[in-house]
Amino acid sequence: MNLVIFGPPGAGKGTYAAELAEQFDIPAIATGDIFRSEVKSGSELGKKVAVYLQSGKLVPDEIVDETLKKWLNKPENHRGFILDGYPRTVEQAQALDAMTKIDAILNMAVPELVLVERLSNRRICPVCGAIYNIKYSPKPKVDSICDKCGAALYQRPDDRIEVIKERFEVYKKQTQPLIKYYKAKKAKFITIVNRQVDADIKIVTRRIMWRMKQARVL
Ligand code: ADP
Repeated sequence: MNLVIFGPPGAGKGTYAAELAEQFDIPAIATGDIFRSEVKSGSELGKKVAVYLQSGKLVPDEIVDETLKKWLNKPENHRGFILDGYPRTVEQAQALDAMTKIDAILNMAVPELVLVERLSNRRICPVCGAIYNIKYSPKPKVDSICDKCGAALYQRPDDRIEVIKERFEVYKKQTQPLIKYYKAKKAKFITIVNRQVDADIKIVTRRIMWRMKQARVL
């Protein structure tokens, strides 16, 4: 099964991609995570994309498409996959359509006020990638420390309020038009509305699975 998880920054794409990857036993890939690790390692690709990540702007399509193509070509990803954060422009969606077939798009719809609350209070474990929130659930048991591995949590540089605003602008201008693109293609497009800041992940995952069954994706 080939799935796309779609939605604005902070909608929980990474969280639900991980849940569904476990349910279906297929890999999930977040283009944002690939770029962040390339920046950290100081690779050529990392040097090229750093400026976009810092400012909340999109990495140019050619670079993202090439990165994704390499990932899709790996044999371990041929059984099915979940894409988190790709495609993000109509051009990327067209490139993806030329690479492979997508079974369904899960559109995570969350009001902007809720997204700002989630993103500005989000903290991440640098070791295992677990995601916490300092004001809402899941809160770490000990302040600023990962429950699972004891590492000090950090804030993504682009989760600062000025950059969050820019990411929303970019989402509205460049990514939201994809909703029309996929609807026009009669793709299985499933919208999951979530208005809670601290939604229960397991409950939302069950809702997603139920909606996928209803849409005959499962
Ligand atoms: P979020 O969805 O929460 O904004 P991501 O981790 O998905 O965060 O992305 C972080 C950054 O990585 C984006 O702001 C952008 O600079 C870059 N990026 C990730 N995916 C793409 C993509 N498909 N196209 C262009 N840039 C991307």
